[in-house]
Amino acid sequence: MNEALPKILIVDDKPNNLYALRRVLSHLKIEVIEADSGQNALIQVMNHDFFLVLLDVNMPEMDGFETADLMLSNKTSESTPIIFLTAINRDLNFAIRGYLTGAVDYIYKPFNDEVLIGKVKIFKQLWEQKKMLVERNNDLKHLANQLAQASKNYIHDSLHDSLTGVPNRKLLLDRGKLGIAIAERAKGSVCLVMLDLDGFKAINDTLGHLAGDMVLQEVCSRMTARLRSSDTLARIGGDEFCFILNETTGAQAAQVIESLVEIFDLPIVIEDKEVTVGGSFGVAEYPIHGKEIGDLLRKADLAMYEAKRSQKTFTVYEESIDSKNELTINKRAELITAVKENQLEIYYQPQVDSNNQCAPGLEALVRWNHPDRGMVLPLDFIPFAEKNNLISLITRWVVENAIEQCSSWIRAGRITNVSINVSPHDFSDSRVLDFQWIVQLMRNWSMPRDSLVLEVTENILMNSSPRLEEQMQNLNENGIELSLDDFGTGYSSLTYLHEIPVKEVKIDQSFVSKLDSKNKFVIVKSIIDLGHNLGLRVVAEGVETESHLITLKGLGCDRLQGYYFCKPQPVEQIDLWLQSYYATYSGAWQPKDINHR
Ligand code: C2E
Ligand code: CA
Ligand code: CA
Repeated sequence: MNEALPKILIVDDKPNNLYALRRVLSHLKIEVIEADSGQNALIQVMNHDFFLVLLDVNMPEMDGFETADLMLSNKTSESTPIIFLTAINRDLNFAIRGYLTGAVDYIYKPFNDEVLIGKVKIFKQLWEQKKMLVERNNDLKHLANQLAQASKNYIHDSLHDSLTGVPNRKLLLDRGKLGIAIAERAKGSVCLVMLDLDGFKAINDTLGHLAGDMVLQEVCSRMTARLRSSDTLARIGGDEFCFILNETTGAQAAQVIESLVEIFDLPIVIEDKEVTVGGSFGVAEYPIHGKEIGDLLRKADLAMYEAKRSQKTFTVYEESIDSKNELTINKRAELITAVKENQLEIYYQPQVDSNNQCAPGLEALVRWNHPDRGMVLPLDFIPFAEKNNLISLITRWVVENAIEQCSSWIRAGRITNVSINVSPHDFSDSRVLDFQWIVQLMRNWSMPRDSLVLEVTENILMNSSPRLEEQMQNLNENGIELSLDDFGTGYSSLTYLHEIPVKEVKIDQSFVSKLDSKNKFVIVKSIIDLGHNLGLRVVAEGVETESHLITLKGLGCDRLQGYYFCKPQPVEQIDLWLQSYYATYSGAWQPKDINHR
């Protein structure tokens, strides 16, 4: 039976009448359902939506009128039209009774086929039109709802960041303007705080974008939890955020930042891995530093870069920052030129054997001879290069040049090895630390396999990935050694030490410089012991005094590096230094002992 056909209900207690009705109605495209009593008719109207009920008036038990009354009092059938079928009482009073119950028409028996068909057709059409109208009405309602929702979504989406759900730059500007207008009236202040994450790019590069996204979401939710409802946190770039702190002075903003920084203490867990990020904040205050939102944003941004540069958690804007940062604008292009035109220069600093029993190693430390600014130190351009995808360019330059410059010293037994600093980003770029490329370079310059050390900061291990481990393994298998730089400043990497192929740890200068404090002494001692237990070479950096030397030697530290022996120097000066060092100590060296422990 076709469900889609309009349905008619015919009700009569006499099978003959039902038969006659069905015969006539069979000419129409409708579905005919029968009921042989008022009760059955009521059951049918509960279950179907009829366009018409043909209802016999004269039935035993429940007559047509009673049946109609009940049908019309029922919600599902209250608007179903009814045509009474009757052979009796053609008088008007009778007809009126029928209409009062809500019936629409009468057909008298014996009925005329054409009249019956004509009337049924009209109701069928009415029903179809009504159905169409209802459907159209529903469609319209649906469309109207969709439209309302879409415009609501659109407004929300156009003002919020899709990843973290916090306001975007557009909404930030709006709220910032509002905050300034309110502060202007109340003669109060507003602070704009820029935040740029530290260490985020390394996570993105080594663990993938999904991990990066999770870090951003987590950081956002932690920070949101620490803000007042009147403050705004917006994401305005990859790992850049901005806060509007209403009715807040610069000094109060500093307190807020101190609380925000705590969110970085707790590692973020991603697929069983703990990763950590940090953040640098920059503050600009209305009205002291500017009156326009755009100007304040720019100044908060400059202050943030200054914080990064000077390795502080946060910096409040001051005018002197402006002039410094004009340089930043062209820095990218300048750096590319610097590499191309060999404005970079490698300085070398010796790492001496603490018992002078073998030749020293050299650490390569890059400098930038800027045509206008003179010599620029690595901290003023390496972090920038890391942030701006230029570090691989610099690393490749340093690797090529250091190998070329050091190979003759190595062949002559003046140094045991050269150590080159590499950045975590270099590990995600396979072109940079491609061991085959490095091995080929070393071969070209006839460098022994174990004469190259790559220094990585221990933080790289926090965000370790299969890819990173594979690369480390490849380097290790090819005799290229890995050294953990700035050891002791990062997080919990002691636990990883035995899992990765490192050969050396370098105790961070901050411990060495305070060796006279009992606390630092204990740390240095335990790093040395731990390193030796794991079979590693231990280097101390920042050795500045004879007392440092004596203490470190006493603790069994293998190698020492610092101003006490030699500052980082250009090739020619280091060559002289190496000559004199060789002349002084080489008498005690074993001829083949250029291989350190
Ligand atoms: P680092 O690897 O920890 O290098 C040691 C830094 O300590 C050097 O600073 C060195 O000049 C300084 N130093 C050495 N002895 C002493 C001392 O006795 N006392 C004190 N106070 N400081 C000492 P520099 O050359 O300014 O380099 C800073 C950082 O820049 C390096 O820290 C390293 O992380 C990075 N860097 C340098 N060259 C490169 C490079 O070619 N590539 C990469 N990715 N990073 C580099
Ligand atoms: Ca280093
Ligand atoms: Ca270091």
